Amino acid sequence: MPRWTMAIDLDKCLGCQACTVACRMENNTPIAGPEQAAKGRAMLWNEVIPSSDGEYPNVTARYIPRPCMHCDDALCVKVCPVKATYRNEEGTVLVDYDRCIGCRFCTVACPYAARYFNWHEPYYPETLKAHLNPDVAIRPKGVVEKCTFCVHRLRKAREQAAAEGRVFQASDYVPACVETCTGRARYFGDLDDPASLVSQLLKSPRAFHLLEELGTHPKVFYLREG
Ligand code: SF4
Ligand code: SF4
Repeated sequence: MPRWTMAIDLDKCLGCQACTVACRMENNTPIAGPEQAAKGRAMLWNEVIPSSDGEYPNVTARYIPRPCMHCDDALCVKVCPVKATYRNEEGTVLVDYDRCIGCRFCTVACPYAARYFNWHEPYYPETLKAHLNPDVAIRPKGVVEKCTFCVHRLRKAREQAAAEGRVFQASDYVPACVETCTGRARYFGDLDDPASLVSQLLKSPRAFHLLEELGTHPKVFYLREG
């Protein structure tokens, strides 16, 4: 059984946010609008967080893309009182929107601030409606949502392989952010395959996890600048 994992090379991330836009379009993420965004309610399943060190003219800037970490020991799964949030058999953390009661325990528990609550019925401007992705369910008001590693793409890739009469390969499945990344900073694959690129990259001395000390065992890891 694969264990889907993402690596993000901070040396290569340009901060262009193409991944954020690709994620939004792929997953029909609702538009919050400026008023709601000012209240901290913008929905960014894949936020690119800027930070800088030093003072002008000796300043270094960096960008940290932050999807859901799909933690192996996910606090959001532990606190969900109705088992709406769960890890599937391949380790991806998902939300059953029909079960979610909107209590937001998970949103508070997530140390990576990767979860978003639907305060309103989803809204899309007319110009975007024609581009809604039919493969992804629109989440109703009152439930929590987040990055799914584009799990619908995995289902489609498996169906495609079966229809073509061939064995599904890990390389058939790529989340939208990985496919779109202009800096080629993202890698995706099966961590249980020792030959996969993500398995090799995890051995790099540059590899690290965010908030490693919490013991959440994220399945997104980073390669530090260097
Ligand atoms: S990053 Fe947050 S939402 Fe994602 S699995 Fe970990 S605890 Fe859950
Ligand atoms: S908001 Fe939904 S997913 Fe989160 S803990 Fe409550 S029921 Fe579970």
